Amino acid sequence: MLSLTSNISPNELVTKIPADKFWLMLDYDGTLVPIADTPWKAIPDQTLRDLLTALAHRPGIKIAIISGRPLADLADLLPSNPIYLVASHGLTIRYPDGSVEHTIDYSSLKPVIDEIAREARLLCSRHSGLLIEHKEAGLALHYRLAEPTLVPAVVTAFRDMARPYLESYSLELLPGKKVLELRPRGVNKGSAVIRLLDLHNWFPVYIGDDFTDEEVFRHLKGWGCTVLVSRESRTTAARFRLRHPGDVREFLALLTG
Ligand SMILES: [Mg+2]
Repeated sequence: MLSLTSNISPNELVTKIPADKFWLMLDYDGTLVPIADTPWKAIPDQTLRDLLTALAHRPGIKIAIISGRPLADLADLLPSNPIYLVASHGLTIRYPDGSVEHTIDYSSLKPVIDEIAREARLLCSRHSGLLIEHKEAGLALHYRLAEPTLVPAVVTAFRDMARPYLESYSLELLPGKKVLELRPRGVNKGSAVIRLLDLHNWFPVYIGDDFTDEEVFRHLKGWGCTVLVSRESRTTAARFRLRHPGDVREFLALLTG
């Protein structure tokens, strides 16, 4: 059931999780780092990278970063081992030993996505402030920098352009924070988390800020510790709420202590 979740402090949150044998599953944008105007401006500083590395080396904790970003992005931004990187909403998983798994075979989708990306770029070229992010098996329309009055028409045009492909190629459109994502149906953060828990059935702590993180909150309902990152109280399936990425960082620092 969805409800309004009350705020929790990083100190209190530490008391909600076991001392040992837990997963720390973290979204990236808006959770570990503040959301930036464009994806390439949301960079982690060295302190955050050091915190993640320190935690990942602690026995009894497994860390997974679970994001809509493609693997190449996450691998550039984050420390390497022993962190699990779950990219493109769960399409690709890089394990701590460096091996990479694709959770679906998307080779036949590639030319379709290329074609949609071509059409999307054409559509976006008519206006400023729009960005198309081309991913392994999907794409994202970012409109954070676009003129706000323009956005509804652009989003509608993008939806209309993508619609014929959705049924034919089993794709879906998902709204996010100033972004509209096109991705293969059935690939989502919730399924990715279940996959990780199948590997190690440890207590899950999941922290995320966006609509796609709600998929995980729903999957984990009644299990583990789910945390929404949001300044305002909003309807969510998460149990707790931290206010912003600074709180998340404080929580991580407390865990290293
Ligand atoms: Mg996010």
